[in-house]
Amino acid sequence: MSVLPSPLLELRGTSKRFIKTLDSAAKLANLLGAKAREEIVHAVDAVDLAVSAGEVVGLVGESGCGKSTLARIAAGLLEPSAGTRLWRGEEVARLPAAKQRAIRLEIQMVFQDPYASLNPRMRVADIVGEAPVVHGLIGQREQKEYVAEVLARVGLDASLLNRFPHQFSGGQRARIGIARALAVRPRFLICDEAVAALDVSIQAQVLNLFMRLREELDLTYLFISHDLGVVQYLSDRVLIMYLGRVVEAAATAEIYARANHPYTLGLLAEVPRLDLRRKNFVSIKGEIPTPLDPPPGCHFHPRCPRAMPRCRIDQPRLREIAPLHFSACHLNDDG
Ligand code: SF4
Repeated sequence: MSVLPSPLLELRGTSKRFIKTLDSAAKLANLLGAKAREEIVHAVDAVDLAVSAGEVVGLVGESGCGKSTLARIAAGLLEPSAGTRLWRGEEVARLPAAKQRAIRLEIQMVFQDPYASLNPRMRVADIVGEAPVVHGLIGQREQKEYVAEVLARVGLDASLLNRFPHQFSGGQRARIGIARALAVRPRFLICDEAVAALDVSIQAQVLNLFMRLREELDLTYLFISHDLGVVQYLSDRVLIMYLGRVVEAAATAEIYARANHPYTLGLLAEVPRLDLRRKNFVSIKGEIPTPLDPPPGCHFHPRCPRAMPRCRIDQPRLREIAPLHFSACHLNDDG
């Protein structure tokens, strides 16, 4: 098997399950003899993820596939139900509390909706400058000057320091969200649908900003999107997720030239480009997968145009089908 350079951030065997408790109507119905039970949401299922320093890894899947849950686990904002999280080869949970806090600063998230994630009652100087002061990276007196520097880095003028979030356009708010993440001098940015709420022309500007920051600050990214077209633009490597599992992973160029998994082919067919292959697939648009009680065997089975009888019962393993190209599909099994 081919190997990647040693990872900066690694998740091993990561799973996350949520229990959907009964509401009061269901509890009442149970008192009258109904047999309603709590449901288990399998948000993330035995995922391995390794991102090397300087790499940009794209994580792609439809709404509900578990990519945002995985992002929060990677950022340390959510505890997994199972699995291990490593930073520079060390298991984070076993490190002293001070080191864990330092790692929390090194890994920052940029969220999907900049308006919802910015406190409407705080001025930009505080939104961006609060965390570096609290964590002792700068003194209170330096805050304004420091925030002005960070804003300049993301293409915003220092004269905007005293404004509130509602006084900015969507693109500017996205830049404030990025500035807030950069203010604590991270090594690793996890961008969860960070450009999804923006117009196409503004998206391109923000994606260019991410690329420039990568060069200037030597950043590493996990870039999460439902849109393969967006991820193609800036990722070195792409992982495709479906119902909580990674079903295909490879270098970006390899995915676009030789996608293997029927689900990846479906996603590619949804990207509005004429040079991508569209054969052998029915449109997946409009169907929303559910991680509630996923089917046994291959999760993609009921929707897969190439399914075989064994797909209903056997879960395909993620296997290396070409150097550093992994796919979880029985079509790759010998015999
Ligand atoms: Fe389709 Fe079977 Fe492959 Fe799953 S394992 S993607 S159902 S062919």
